Amino acid sequence: MISHIPTSEQLFSELPFAELLLDEPLFEAVESLGFDMMTEVQASAIPQALHGKDLIVNAKTGSGKTLAYLLPMLQQILDNPQTVSQALILAPTRELCRQINKQCSLLAKFTDIHAAVIIGGEDPKHQIKALQTFPEIIIATPGRLLEHVKREVIDLESINILVLDEADRMLAMGFSDEVISIATHCNEECQTVLYSASYNQNKFALLTDAILYDAEVLMVDSTREDNRNITQQKILSDDRAHKLKLCKYLLENEKYSKAMVFANKKETVNVICGWLQSENITSAFIHGDVDQDKRNQQLRKFRTGEINIIIATDVAARGLDISDLDLVINFDVPHNGEDYMHRIGRTGRMTETGSAITLVDANEWNNMISIEHFLDIKCPLRKIGALPARYKGPENQKSSGKAFGKKRKKASEKKTVKKVKNRSKNRVRDKKNIGKRRQPSAKHHSE
Ligand code: ADP
Ligand code: ADP
Ligand code: MG
Repeated sequence: MISHIPTSEQLFSELPFAELLLDEPLFEAVESLGFDMMTEVQASAIPQALHGKDLIVNAKTGSGKTLAYLLPMLQQILDNPQTVSQALILAPTRELCRQINKQCSLLAKFTDIHAAVIIGGEDPKHQIKALQTFPEIIIATPGRLLEHVKREVIDLESINILVLDEADRMLAMGFSDEVISIATHCNEECQTVLYSASYNQNKFALLTDAILYDAEVLMVDSTREDNRNITQQKILSDDRAHKLKLCKYLLENEKYSKAMVFANKKETVNVICGWLQSENITSAFIHGDVDQDKRNQQLRKFRTGEINIIIATDVAARGLDISDLDLVINFDVPHNGEDYMHRIGRTGRMTETGSAITLVDANEWNNMISIEHFLDIKCPLRKIGALPARYKGPENQKSSGKAFGKKRKKASEKKTVKKVKNRSKNRVRDKKNIGKRRQPSAKHHSE
């Protein structure tokens, strides 16, 4: 059963939170955060979730999805208090889990509801202690949680609300077996809710077939979201050295409060950070090989503004909600359109504005064009007069905007090889088939 909510360019619905008839402590918490009107995704998902429906929800980055699943979860726990853990939120990164926990404590501050964060990189002993107090809500990354399940530290049988935030990312990280295994350990009657800004029916099929029951699909925004409040540009670059200079130039000359620089590899993050330091620009950095205490410390400094530049891999591309972040630089073109969308979605949250600048070298040109096509956007080329690129973009462009060039040569080389191969194959077959009727199609294939 699919119910499509029409794509809306409007972020806010016409409905105030008061419409929801939430218990007083929750309503007061929402008020104390200064929230009055629900966003579109909140107005459509909260009532459905309160009815206990399984849901798949897609809404753009920065549209308030966290509240859309936390509020009904808290209300359901107030309606049906138990002495055991009853709700579980899975998210792909440790930082995101911590952020969700913060949001959750703000909303639950006038209730007795508690949450525990179960993530990798932290001492399991403390987590075991926390679990033994039976927090109503568990917020976890799949890997560590499943370890606790296997060690029988925790029994998920009492979980009757399961939320997967950034669900597609967990699948892309190869966590689908873990997620399915966790979901099957939850109560049979468990309500399961999937959230994402980049829902893809085909990629989700495995998960949805295995763990959802008669789910409602709420598409509040299309996957290929149009981020009107984010200015997007691309700058041609030659190589890493040139990119480093461009990056420094932008960080020194753009107007911004906080900037996030994304690179595709951990090593590149280290290089950028080290180089900026040598140029007397201090930046924080986050990637998977940085130990967790340091990761937490760096992100804290960035959130508070003690450091206003952070360099990161895609580990920081999902879900993080950081105030005053108004510049994203893609040092490398991301691998695909979804990653691009999530990276730039760290800026321009809610009604804020931001800008996103992608550095594109000759090898990345075609990928950038694919991303623009996928998201149906056109990033204008910007030139930095002080740092001109030798690379001027492809000399010959296909109608798609992609470069011809080397690839075409390679393709024709391949063809020749294939032809030669086929010809010799044919001769063998011809010998074998002496006296037999020739297959006309065989000849056809070799041409
Ligand atoms: P998403 O998960 O969709 O990317 P978040 O849940 O992180 O977005 O929310 C983005 C920001 O909007 C957060 O800072 C959150 O506190 C704020 N926010 C959420 N709901 C509302 C609302 N109804 N009105 C104003 N701000 C809101
Ligand atoms: P992750 O791989 O989930 O990111 P870590 O790399 O920080 O987590 O894991 C640290 C170690 O803690 C691992 O060797 C893991 O096996 C161990 N561990 C996890 N859960 C428990 C537990 N309940 N009791 C004892 N050790 C655990
Ligand atoms: Mg989110």
